[in-house]
Amino acid sequence: MRSIDLSGISDASVQACEEIAKDAGVNLKDCYQCGKCTAGCPLADSMDLMPREVIRYLQLGAIDVVLDAKTPWICAQCVVCSSRCPQNVDICSAMRAVRLASKHAGKRPLPEADIFDDEFIANVRVHGVSNEQYLAAAYNLKSLHFMQDMGNATRMLKRGMVGVSMHNTKGRANVAALVDRALEADAARRAQSDEDKGGDE
Ligand code: SF4
Ligand code: SF4
Repeated sequence: MRSIDLSGISDASVQACEEIAKDAGVNLKDCYQCGKCTAGCPLADSMDLMPREVIRYLQLGAIDVVLDAKTPWICAQCVVCSSRCPQNVDICSAMRAVRLASKHAGKRPLPEADIFDDEFIANVRVHGVSNEQYLAAAYNLKSLHFMQDMGNATRMLKRGMVGVSMHNTKGRANVAALVDRALEADAARRAQSDEDKGGDE
């Protein structure tokens, strides 16, 4: 765990960490830093903060360390960490909440992951299902990775693993309504949170 300057921690930063925990349904005091979450995480080698450290920095109120971390954006939401935790801390949910808070704060420490998220949601909203060839194309264009996947795409097209036609589910209007409701609920929650903070100042 890297050393951090605790003098930067304030009531506001502690409160911001507590709000993330609340969003995630996590009680930060439950974590006793055993490290089982980190030991089971399949992506720990690629992370800049270990899952255990994300929880520790939240406990400390080090909001900037958490919001600037790439870890929540690398997290694949596989739930291994949460299922291994002897204290039932839902680390997976905390990663998701940190990611939303980071995005809301305009941080985007891993822009590619943010672009991928947005394209995935847009794809599912329109078609009710992810059309991976178009998701990959949109992602590669927006992330400026123009030539990425070209070799694979050609091979997959030849083998019929992907096609050019779009798949749409029958219930795509329902899926679109669900996505819209989730986005609206998140926007309303964020607006309320900003209003509450304004009232506290
Ligand atoms: S497994 Fe649970 S208690 Fe152990 S470090 Fe991770 S979050 Fe904390
Ligand atoms: S949910 Fe995220 S942090 Fe937890 S084990 Fe999976 S990849 Fe790692």
